[in-house]
Amino acid sequence: MKNFFKLDKPTFSFEIFPPKGAGDLSQIFGTVDALASLDPDLISVTYGAGGTSRENTAEIASRIQRDYAIPALAHLTCVGSTREEMRATLDKLKEKGIQNILAMRGDLGSDETKDFKYASELIKFINENYSFRIFAACYPEKHLEAYSMEEDLEHLRAKCECGVSVLISQLFFDNASFYSFRERARKLGVAAPIEAGIMPITSPTQIGRMVSMCGASVPDGVQKIIRAYGHNSMAMREAGIAYATNQIIDLLAEGVDGIHLYTMNQPDIAKRICENIRGVLYSLRVKRG
Ligand code: FAD
Repeated sequence: MKNFFKLDKPTFSFEIFPPKGAGDLSQIFGTVDALASLDPDLISVTYGAGGTSRENTAEIASRIQRDYAIPALAHLTCVGSTREEMRATLDKLKEKGIQNILAMRGDLGSDETKDFKYASELIKFINENYSFRIFAACYPEKHLEAYSMEEDLEHLRAKCECGVSVLISQLFFDNASFYSFRERARKLGVAAPIEAGIMPITSPTQIGRMVSMCGASVPDGVQKIIRAYGHNSMAMREAGIAYATNQIIDLLAEGVDGIHLYTMNQPDIAKRICENIRGVLYSLRVKRG
């Protein structure tokens, strides 16, 4: 199995989400089969995001490592959990052989915070009691609840000081916002590698949902695509793949540490993007390695 932490930069990872409910896992492993053939450096599995279940994250991540020999990253949120509950969840992840955890607070919805108010408290708890590698979330256009970028960056710096190996960013469509965020984070002393989160746009509804969920700004280029092609799903998909490809090529040229592709469990889209960037990615790895 690859060691994600010893790979040449830039790294390239995928994100998938488990099916809703306890459900049959055969479909998700069909998706993993297809994604595995694209040789990612890591596959992450979400935890209860967007109403999907939390039950299968550990099982799916564990099988990605065991059956596909691909490093896996299990997402985990602490909102609504007591220390005892979190300990039970972490013990289960350990039993399943999980090594990497994306440790987050989670969204404040129906769950009230109990023993953990912020992700930093979960990260401290994990590092004091376990030996997982910790990944954490970051927000190039600031987290929705933060009053200002300054405040959010200060919280990010404090979170990283609790022991974070890698940061993965929220999705964004405007690379300039990512570059500005990265520069400010580095100036503050945030040293962890930052994987840039890219989500290919496939429909106007999807964009609307994402923007209301995470607050990503929609630049003119994306608005133009929606206006011109939003009525035709095939054209929209083509344009979305091209936009994401251009974003990634620009990020790679600007020395990004890694790309984290939100696959939306659609391996055909991930495949198209991989084909578009494979040569570029390889050339940089050879140069930097
Ligand atoms: P935190 O780092 O705790 O920050 C939350 C807010 O609190 C920010 O505004 C921050 O500025 C502020 N803050 C932090 N520390 C302090 C402090 N000491 N004092 C005052 N304010 C503070 N959600 C899911 O439910 N499941 C998933 O699988 C999932 N995967 C994700 C993957 C990625 C890559 C990203 C970027 C997000 C993901 N999310 C997921 C969403 C995430 O749970 C939410 O964005 C959540 O609202 C914040 O989580 P966090 O860990 O970033 O929180």
